[in-house]
Amino acid sequence: MQLLPTFDLILFGGTGDLAMRKLLPALYWRFACGQISSDSRIIGTARSELTREDYLAQVRATCETHLGEDFSEKTWHDFAERLSYSKVDAKNDADFAGLCGTLEGREEHIRIFFLSTAPNLFAPICEGLARHSVVTPKSRVVLEKPLGHDRASSAEINERVGAIFEERQIFRIDHYLGKETVQNLLALRFGNTLFEPLWRRGHVKHVQITVAEDLGVERRADFYDKTGALRDMVQNHLLQLLCIIAMEPPATSDLDAMRDEKLKVLYSLRPLVGRDVLAKTVRGQYKAGAAKGQPVVGYLEEKNVPPNSTTETFVALKVEIDSWRWAGVPFYLRTGKRLQERQTEIVLTFDDVPHSIYDRPDHAHALNRLVIQLQPEEYITLTVLAKSPGEGMHLKPVNLSLDFSQTFKTRSLDAYERLLTDVVKGNLTLFMRRDELDAAWAWIDPIREAWERYDEQPKIYTAGTWGPAAASALIGRDGFAWRNEL
Ligand code: NAP
Repeated sequence: MQLLPTFDLILFGGTGDLAMRKLLPALYWRFACGQISSDSRIIGTARSELTREDYLAQVRATCETHLGEDFSEKTWHDFAERLSYSKVDAKNDADFAGLCGTLEGREEHIRIFFLSTAPNLFAPICEGLARHSVVTPKSRVVLEKPLGHDRASSAEINERVGAIFEERQIFRIDHYLGKETVQNLLALRFGNTLFEPLWRRGHVKHVQITVAEDLGVERRADFYDKTGALRDMVQNHLLQLLCIIAMEPPATSDLDAMRDEKLKVLYSLRPLVGRDVLAKTVRGQYKAGAAKGQPVVGYLEEKNVPPNSTTETFVALKVEIDSWRWAGVPFYLRTGKRLQERQTEIVLTFDDVPHSIYDRPDHAHALNRLVIQLQPEEYITLTVLAKSPGEGMHLKPVNLSLDFSQTFKTRSLDAYERLLTDVVKGNLTLFMRRDELDAAWAWIDPIREAWERYDEQPKIYTAGTWGPAAASALIGRDGFAWRNEL
């Protein structure tokens, strides 16, 4: 494991859910693996009045919870020496002075400002840092999603952050891109000759991307009700996964080569506008039902959700890509809360044989299918037809599986571990460039506008199911079905 250069990481929102659940455990893991040098520092910040001891107690508790039996007293002791806390209210300029004092004399080191806060604080924090002259040429800023709530607000944030940091210093996170399986998908596509000839119209019948959550809105109702599934999930995670599937092979592994190809996909998405939106999208909202065998309330009964809210907790879309590679191949996207299972997967379904000489299973099961699962397990399987044992040539689908945990038998990095180390290394490949973000919002905004113009109300689905029946009809009209419905 390569030792990272010395850095100071200033974690804004250092007491928040993301910091505690993901970022600090990820840093602990990288430290435990010997990647973080002993003179690197992690400084948590938030508005709360906490002593260093208070903060350390919180971080220790979360590391213990998330590391389980991998938590070690000795590693914690050494890791804790790198940690400190500085109270900063992003809206109070005087608070920056204390934080900035702690950075003095360390200008030669990499400086990472990780903004794990609400997006309305991104520009004020960057401007506060600039006023106190702590943005050095070796500084980087990391921005969590969501970057704004539409194209205009995202442009404004990018404009203000871009006035202080150069584009090469701005790391816009979409943590799905840090997942091991997404890396493996790239390896599968661009490390083998096998799939490339088939990865196109004429061989691929259709593509499905599902990001299903079994949880409800949890503690995020306030934020979620103003956002909805389209902006919370499709604008970023689903479109990014679609880009990885649909992009042309980049010429090199250089940072901009892949981002250029992803951008071309976003530019090739057929716009969804006007009444077409109603035909090709489904909005849904969950009502009371069950999760893991227990009764759960509906979205409108969740704490902090207005009782007449029309925010969508589910969305399904039919997306078309106007390019030589993908013309005529539909991409079906869906995401939702309180669905039957937590599952993120990409499914490529290939064409049927032109003529069969054997007994085959019914049509849907007879097709070759590549399944790339990102959650809950990370694996890739290819469904092929094989002869079932016994007399006669009866074909049955079987899976050729690439199960990474079984094959490599080593722990793979969590997405945030990979992305945090990439930030330290200055590797921007897995982060979104400003033009990508802008293109994604430009495609998303008209969908929301059409929903508003035509007063498209969410279709109600029962918690614990796979979403509204209209989502099955959306794909069913083209003669296909979601994989879980096969
Ligand atoms: P959170 O739990 O509400 O935490 C927000 C953090 O910001 C807290 O540390 C809070 O601490 C701090 N904060 C609030 N107002 C502040 C101010 N004026 N100045 C300085 N600090 C302030 O939120 P979160 O879930 O961690 O999410 C953080 C960001 O990441 C959000 O934009 C969210 O959408 C995004 N995100 C979260 C997740 C996730 O799994 N949680 C996943 C992807 C993206 P004080 O109240 O003490 O100031």
